[in-house]
Amino acid sequence: MNEQQLLTFDHQHLWHPYSAIYSTMPMYAVERAGGVMITLKNGQRLIDGMSSWWAALHGYNHPRLNAAATEQLAKMSHIMFGGFTHEPAVKLGKKLTALLPPELNKIFFADSGSVAVEVAMKMAVQYQYASGKPTRAKFATIRSGYHGDTWHAMSVCDPETGMHNLFNRSLPVQYFLPQPSVKFDQPWDDEAIKPLEDLLAEKHQEIAALILEPIVQGAGGMYFYSPHYLVKAQQLCKQYGILLIFDEIATGFGRTGKMFAFEHAGVIPDIICLGKALTGGYLTLSATVTQHHIAETICNSEAKCFMHGPTFMANPLACAIAAESLTLLLESPWQTRVAQIEQQLKQELQEAIHLSAVKEVRVLGAIGVIEMHEPVNLATLQPRFVKQGIWVRPFGRLVYIMPPFIIEPAQLHQLTQGLINGIKEEYGT
Ligand SMILES: *Cc1c(COP(=O)(O)O)cnc(C)c1O
Repeated sequence: MNEQQLLTFDHQHLWHPYSAIYSTMPMYAVERAGGVMITLKNGQRLIDGMSSWWAALHGYNHPRLNAAATEQLAKMSHIMFGGFTHEPAVKLGKKLTALLPPELNKIFFADSGSVAVEVAMKMAVQYQYASGKPTRAKFATIRSGYHGDTWHAMSVCDPETGMHNLFNRSLPVQYFLPQPSVKFDQPWDDEAIKPLEDLLAEKHQEIAALILEPIVQGAGGMYFYSPHYLVKAQQLCKQYGILLIFDEIATGFGRTGKMFAFEHAGVIPDIICLGKALTGGYLTLSATVTQHHIAETICNSEAKCFMHGPTFMANPLACAIAAESLTLLLESPWQTRVAQIEQQLKQELQEAIHLSAVKEVRVLGAIGVIEMHEPVNLATLQPRFVKQGIWVRPFGRLVYIMPPFIIEPAQLHQLTQGLINGIKEEYGT
């Protein structure tokens, strides 16, 4: 198929994320990707700034991940997980429990991040029910969060940037707290936890769990907040018997400079959701991991079991690749790499703060964010980045990058310069 045929069929028949059918937004046909380079059908090569949405840690087309996939393919791509277990699931389970704190050791594998969040929320409700507290069925969360696009995940996404105006007649009503007011590197102020304190004092009989993206809010705002917030939140949750769920689907596996973002605060949640980078960006797979006592409580109840079971649960192909991806990560000097990326992003993005259209520049780990004063026009800005030879996908007022950890300093330099050049072309200096 040539490029034009491909784009024509796509335009007429295929939906893309958050898009209109017959969309007029720019669309590029991609042919292949290797390392940090994406090759378009027309031959143009782009440096990847997105890791395909937090996922491709080791870059694309990695020989070790390819080998893990082909080896598993020759045995079986999939087998039902009801009544069967297999080496890929057990291997991955071992690696995850070794990586996580010892308390987090009961793993539920599901197909996507959103489903991992649904699973975590169902666990919390079943736990409260089994503990004789059936009224505790709602969730508390902070504004500007993002937890996925399925029903209950959507209900805890930010009500404004999320889709609540459209769906609010069908969505369960949850409790929204203000976004934590203290930023990542600011001194702590107890005022920031007051809204949660007040909410839990008043409504704890109705709340099953508090769900948060720890430290870094991703798609809802690319905002970095104080680790102390998590320390205080955990104290309050414990005090009121409310579970604490950390959604680390974006932040997990080194992205913020720690293996998991909760390590910045030293706070171990009751339930953690993992996804995105879990398979190194190869396949969709997620894990919801909880503590022994929560699993016990759920399973000693009248239900006797946890009520969820996806068809493609613990898909062997995805698990085999995920296990190899974690091995690769641990063998690599990822901490040094992420620290170097952070350093370079801080230096090279600083220039953007002087541009009149730019409101703020922030960097944490291998995440660089340029926040604009106004929402960007994707239709004009995206082609400028492509012309610069970089792949960056802004949304709203946020132009941000989170490159694969394997990116070389010279490539990262091209990425940051392309980013700043693109913004200058669009808005002037
Ligand atoms: C991407 C994301 C999700 C949803 O994951 P999907 O695999 O897209 O369903 C949930 N939570 C966070 C924090 C995410 O970044």
